[in-house]
Amino acid sequence: MNLISAMENSIRDTVILGTGCAGLTAAIYAGRANLKPLVLEGHEPGGQLSITTLVENFPGFPEGIQGPELIENMRKQAARFGAEFMMGHLAHADLTQRPFKLDFGGSKTVLTRTLIIASGASARWLGLPSEQALIGYGVSSCATCDGFFFRGKPITVIGGGDSAMEEALFLTRFASKVTVIHRRDHFRASKIMLERARKHEKIEFLTDTIVEDVMDVKAKEVTGLKLRNAKTGKVWEFPTSALFLGIGHEPNAKMFNGQLDQDQDGYLKTSDFVFTNVPGVFACGDVQDRRYRQAITAAGSGCAAAMETEKFLEERGR
Ligand code: NAP
Repeated sequence: MNLISAMENSIRDTVILGTGCAGLTAAIYAGRANLKPLVLEGHEPGGQLSITTLVENFPGFPEGIQGPELIENMRKQAARFGAEFMMGHLAHADLTQRPFKLDFGGSKTVLTRTLIIASGASARWLGLPSEQALIGYGVSSCATCDGFFFRGKPITVIGGGDSAMEEALFLTRFASKVTVIHRRDHFRASKIMLERARKHEKIEFLTDTIVEDVMDVKAKEVTGLKLRNAKTGKVWEFPTSALFLGIGHEPNAKMFNGQLDQDQDGYLKTSDFVFTNVPGVFACGDVQDRRYRQAITAAGSGCAAAMETEKFLEERGR
């Protein structure tokens, strides 16, 4: 029997949307508070940590820890305290009625007294038709997933932030050469990451450069890029075997449009850390944090969301 169908008629104390660092920390705390959280796993289980490599800045791991291992540990910890996991893509949420009603397509529905949104953020794309057509054929947003396929070949990374530097450094393991293309000549990346990339013998930079097209859609493989210099307007073709996007992320909050307050880029607005505009609905992690976006801050807000959930239920006699 489908697990969601089995849950249809029972009302949950809390449902947690997302299994990244924020969602799993919320699950650990909600589990320990005996709320028996139902944790919903969407398209990107484990969130961004599950597709990263070494995490060097999560306290408690002096030598660092692999992202997927950190996530797996959190998941086991949440399960130990009674969190239930299930796959499900939220199609629609009705936050106007109580309990809240979550629809997962067809007749699959979950009713819950509280909701913790930890749906994170997903990789941003340039939006070029040729880029979209070549995803999986040399265009990727995940160096750890796909870098291996381009052993000994020239690889290009787009972006000027920490993600782009991290991808570029990681890809030097495989590539003959990594070119970082950035649309400006100023970088958002932290000094330490930028310096590491600048010092690496395999990495070179092309600044003030815009990607106009990805070739070759007909051949179903990446053979090069059509580039334009943002200052001079000069256009040229640049040979490369793969294109990795490191241009940031977009919050996964569209399903709450019109119901929860969002900023101009779609991030959920929260007050006092985790409160949304609907009482009983809390948000944590990258879906509401455009400022810090770190694993440790996501974990901290997940903890706060679960503690506020417990308080909310307690005040209403649960
Ligand atoms: P980010 O800091 O927002 O940087 C995104 C970069 O992509 C910017 O340089 C931006 O250019 C560029 N960009 C955005 N849209 C573009 C487009 N359509 N075409 C071309 N370029 C585009 O995002 P991020 O690098 O993912 O980092 C997000 C947060 O996570 C940061 O706080 C970062 O420190 C953190 N992070 C930390 C680590 C680590 O510590 N190991 C690793 C990854 C990320 P402009 O500068 O011109 O806007």
